[in-house]
Amino acid sequence: MTDSEVQVFIPTLGNKDRAYHTDENCRYVGSRHYPASLKDAKDRGLEECQLCADEFPTARPDFSVYEAAVEAGKEGGSPE
Ligand SMILES: [Zn+2]
Repeated sequence: MTDSEVQVFIPTLGNKDRAYHTDENCRYVGSRHYPASLKDAKDRGLEECQLCADEFPTARPDFSVYEAAVEAGKEGGSPE
């Protein structure tokens, strides 16, 4: 798959967002973003959204946050 075939979401001109988003459901994606190709995003000089980068399917899963949550649950869990 080439950059021009990968769909991302980029901010409209005038939008202060300087990132492109790979996840349509990213919480930073709103009405002032529109679908475009990854090539368009790179041509605009946009960088990948940190939040989307973490959730990108090809990225190696990071379980450290999950494990930290489990540890926190053990210590501070409510006694139900
Ligand atoms: Zn994003």
